[in-house]
Amino acid sequence: MFDTVLIANRGEIALRIVRACKALGLKSVAVFSEADSELRHIALADQALCIGPAPSSKSYLNKSELILAARLTQAGAIHPGYGFLSENAEFAEMVENAGLTFIGPGSAAIKRMGDKVSAKRAMTESGVPCVPGSEGALPEDPAVVASMAETVGYPLIIKAAGGGGGRGMRVVRAAADLHDAVAMTREEAGRAFGNATVYMEKFLETPRHIEIQVLADKHGNAVWLGERDCSMQRRHQKIIEEAPAPSVDRADIARIGESCAQACLNIGYTGAGTFEFLYEKGAFYFIEMNTRVQVEHPVTELVTGVDIVAEQLRIALGEPLSFQQADMMMKGHAIECRLNAEHPWTFTPSPGRVTEWIAPGGPGVRVESHMYSGYSIPPNYDSLIGKLLTHGATREEAIARMRVALDEIVIAGVDTTVPLHRKLMLDPGFTTGGFNIHHLEHLIEQGSFIEEQAK
Ligand code: ADP
Repeated sequence: MFDTVLIANRGEIALRIVRACKALGLKSVAVFSEADSELRHIALADQALCIGPAPSSKSYLNKSELILAARLTQAGAIHPGYGFLSENAEFAEMVENAGLTFIGPGSAAIKRMGDKVSAKRAMTESGVPCVPGSEGALPEDPAVVASMAETVGYPLIIKAAGGGGGRGMRVVRAAADLHDAVAMTREEAGRAFGNATVYMEKFLETPRHIEIQVLADKHGNAVWLGERDCSMQRRHQKIIEEAPAPSVDRADIARIGESCAQACLNIGYTGAGTFEFLYEKGAFYFIEMNTRVQVEHPVTELVTGVDIVAEQLRIALGEPLSFQQADMMMKGHAIECRLNAEHPWTFTPSPGRVTEWIAPGGPGVRVESHMYSGYSIPPNYDSLIGKLLTHGATREEAIARMRVALDEIVIAGVDTTVPLHRKLMLDPGFTTGGFNIHHLEHLIEQGSFIEEQAK
């Protein structure tokens, strides 16, 4: 098989993958752009190669350059991390055709599940409930679209089939706005994702976001590893994730989890993946699948004890899963706060030199970050600088530990979202649990939530 893995990514996830490779006795290759020579994982990988200038299009998204880098360094596999080319079926296919192993599902499964329209169709066929909406892509004819909208009912949401990162979505509350919303979402989707296909869903007013983590090997075994509640969002982007989801019937979760594992077998899915659902009034509605490791995977690792990245590597090596569904136990409660180099109240990105970085510690505390004192955050990429996680026997204990850790962490030189998280850990809506996806935006709209801390 392979003994060397090229990591086609940067930042905290690249570091996470290097560590997993080392623990499994695999060699790793770091590739980096000209803006990224200070990245922490470069020093830890067995080999490192600069693959191009700062813009992602010329480095982390340069497919043929990455394959060439794998050849040069004799890497037999490529781990794409998340973002960048991780859900790019064309890249996965190029990797396969080059005789290398793509650490993820096969390109056919990425193609099928990466397109939200065909993913919903596949899930419906597997008996998984989806958000009601247009069955398939919206046609060109505005009259047909208008009549579909009447059937779905307002409010509804127009979504890009190839969308991601919370972009390419538009809520429509009245028929008068439908035509413009469809046109704008199409235009935006074509520009951002190279695919102008859009579809329509009922807009759920107060859902929670609950997702199921799965792992499937190449021997016909698929397991689900509990759920994560990712309802703390801003602009459809996750800010805090936790497991288990507070006050959701365990039998309902188990039923959905089983259907996700079964769907993996039906679609021939292998590797790690996440089925995302909206949860409202006791019902689950599938929205999309992420065919890769997710930012929030350590939440599940803390409650299940499974090393998801190591499992990805083992599955790619052709090994069968080392555990079965019956072995899967969720223990205690885990919370993750995403740390971004952004102003905590305006969310303006704040790249620059981190003059001081002191990570917190103690029982049940985990830090996933590539930061160190003196590191310069380049302005070219996502502002995620790390993840702070805590685990406790109960949700209360996990929150208490998170408060301590957030007080302890020192990040100087750049703005970060740490003050926002400190505030959220005291918010009664958060501490009670079970809030919906609009909770944070409602808090932000109430000026008092912000100003108190901004003083
Ligand atoms: P992306 O791939 O960009 O992450 P998703 O389809 O996963 O897009 O949706 C991201 C978020 O957008 C969800 O977590 C939810 O907050 C919101 N959202 C998506 N679809 C709906 C819907 N039908 N009703 C209400 N909110 C939605």
